[in-house]
Amino acid sequence: MNPKSTKNLGNKKSTAKPAKEIVIDGLGVSSGIAIGMVHVRESGAIAVPEYIVAASKITEELKRFEVALGTARRQVSRLRNKANKLPAAAAEEMGLLLEAYAQMLGDSRLVRGARRRISENRTNAEAAIQAEINDITQGFAQLDDSYIAARLDDIREVANRITRALTQSHVRPISTVPKGSIVISEEVTPADAAQLDPKRVVGFAAVLGGAQGHTAIMARALGLPAVLGVPGLSAMAKSGDVIIVDGEVGRIILNPTPATLAIFESKQFEYRRRQARFSKMKRQPAVTRDGVEISLFANVELPIEMPQVMMAGAAGIGLLRSEFMFMNRDDLPGEEEQFLMLRDIIKTLNGRTLTVRTLDIGGEKLAQSLTEDVGESAQSALGLRGIRLSLARPDLLETQFAAILRASALGPIRILLPMVSTTREVKKSREILKKVAASLKRKKITMAKKLPPLGVMIEVPSAALTADALVSVCDFFAIGSNDLTQYTLAIDRTDERVATLYNPLHPSVLRLIEMSVGAALRGRIPISICGEIAGDPRVTALLLGLGVRELSMSAHTIPAVKQRVREIDLSAATERASAIMAQSDSGRIAMLLDDFNALV
Ligand code: PEP
Ligand code: MG
Repeated sequence: MNPKSTKNLGNKKSTAKPAKEIVIDGLGVSSGIAIGMVHVRESGAIAVPEYIVAASKITEELKRFEVALGTARRQVSRLRNKANKLPAAAAEEMGLLLEAYAQMLGDSRLVRGARRRISENRTNAEAAIQAEINDITQGFAQLDDSYIAARLDDIREVANRITRALTQSHVRPISTVPKGSIVISEEVTPADAAQLDPKRVVGFAAVLGGAQGHTAIMARALGLPAVLGVPGLSAMAKSGDVIIVDGEVGRIILNPTPATLAIFESKQFEYRRRQARFSKMKRQPAVTRDGVEISLFANVELPIEMPQVMMAGAAGIGLLRSEFMFMNRDDLPGEEEQFLMLRDIIKTLNGRTLTVRTLDIGGEKLAQSLTEDVGESAQSALGLRGIRLSLARPDLLETQFAAILRASALGPIRILLPMVSTTREVKKSREILKKVAASLKRKKITMAKKLPPLGVMIEVPSAALTADALVSVCDFFAIGSNDLTQYTLAIDRTDERVATLYNPLHPSVLRLIEMSVGAALRGRIPISICGEIAGDPRVTALLLGLGVRELSMSAHTIPAVKQRVREIDLSAATERASAIMAQSDSGRIAMLLDDFNALV
């Protein structure tokens, strides 16, 4: 924040009764310091579609309603856990409120009535819940009682929560917030984060969310300081309050005193100076002290990152998460639309390689247009997601392949398959790729002479354990350490309650990485790492020591990793990596790594 606007923040506070400074700790998921005005995303009435459900689809509609109820229950249960960490009085108050929400999501009149409307009147689930809430409200309308009015508000809040889960809608688009806002919300989904405009939003914080989820990744990609998993935040922050988000430490400060504000302004200044120093690295080669060249690629979530990718001097894009094409819309992008998006990116890259990952919708990354198809399964980290969904809906894959093949005429491009767990999935995908290429050829559509290399994300333990078999059916590997850690340690990467257990340096994860690298080197296929550890300079020496020569990361982290690469002596790093791989204790691994890092 510039000095002028800081002065304004100070003035605002001096005319009103100064509010008490509140400090709350959470998970720092994207570094930097943001100082700005709170913009609370509130819930409210939601416009819903209304239609008659075909008699043959009633069971499906009821199932859709139950899935939404499940989502709302999970949200409330996570909020109750968070509330327990608040100071006693606030915890009690929030606890009672959330207990009431949980009951309303159980066998309540609201839920029973909505179910009845779906099965008897054939009303769609969203309209059924809204009709039921209208009935309940009308029944109490004549009573002028503030207690009842408050309870009705609670019932409306619960109904809206179910409706939002049904429609995946959000009340107010995040894209339209005032300039200089810090968005505060109960939850910021990856799709919400994709709508944040860094020209208006300077940071964000939420009650829910883990450090390794896609919301966190998106925050880092956009260079927005962010803190997730902040208990009690949405109950305490009011729109217009001054707020500081310290994404490094993982702390938010509401209504800071002038003294606190001054401390954080100087921290912010220091942080920016450090970043500016890093930007000078662009022209330096990424070469180790003993002369080995390392390729540093960028991970891209959104096309608006492209200027940053070029500024960071990335060798190309090692992971284009194509989900952005499918988010925040209720239809599917067609071949032409996908081609045009790829064309713009590939033109900007100007000869550098673009690695497009096929759709990895599922888990926390949902697309309205596909949710109905896959229902609850899409929300499960173990469900019909990634390549499984693409093979279950080959039309999706065919359209994506066609767009990629057309783009292949414009520059080097590779295709990456997410969530692969068997060789069959790769073979099936290649068959589809060949079929689509043949069809484009018949239509005389221009493509590259050779089919693009087809690679596999190694992010499921079964893929790492059978990497030697996968080598024979694919052209390259990209290790997704985020999911590999999640699935190996059985830790939901988006759940703030288990965030401290998430450890990509756990020996089990490292052994799977080592196995995959070994298989790729023996099979002579390229291998890169594109999970978040690739962008962590603390881990660079270990990854290089394990034989990795290609890293792909958020463009913002390329300069820091490049600097680290230039400090490392590869033969010493290789020796240290083998000492580390002999360990079976995470603490010892961390110590051996930190000791090595301290030396160079
Ligand atoms: C990973 O799992 O490490 C990865 C790069 O994919 P994503 O973070 O998009 O799941
Ligand atoms: Mg993944």
